[in-house]
Amino acid sequence: MKCTICRHGETRPGKTDVLLTRENMTLVVKGVPALICGNCGEEYVDEETTKSLRIAADEAEQAGVQVDVRQFATA
Ligand SMILES: [Zn+2]
Repeated sequence: MKCTICRHGETRPGKTDVLLTRENMTLVVKGVPALICGNCGEEYVDEETTKSLRIAADEAEQAGVQVDVRQFATA
């Protein structure tokens, strides 16, 4: 698809790292599938993936995690 930020680049499937922060918790998830703009580098993570990241952040927060770095696990 065409990038909606710069309106020039084409997005390509790739992997990115996502930082999720809560009041007392920071979670970095690596290897998250995303569409990445070849021009400006904007990253588009789809709804399904965003949802599972949010669930992972909720679980980590409830487990009392303060800082964690993990690999994205496909559900
Ligand atoms: Zn772009």
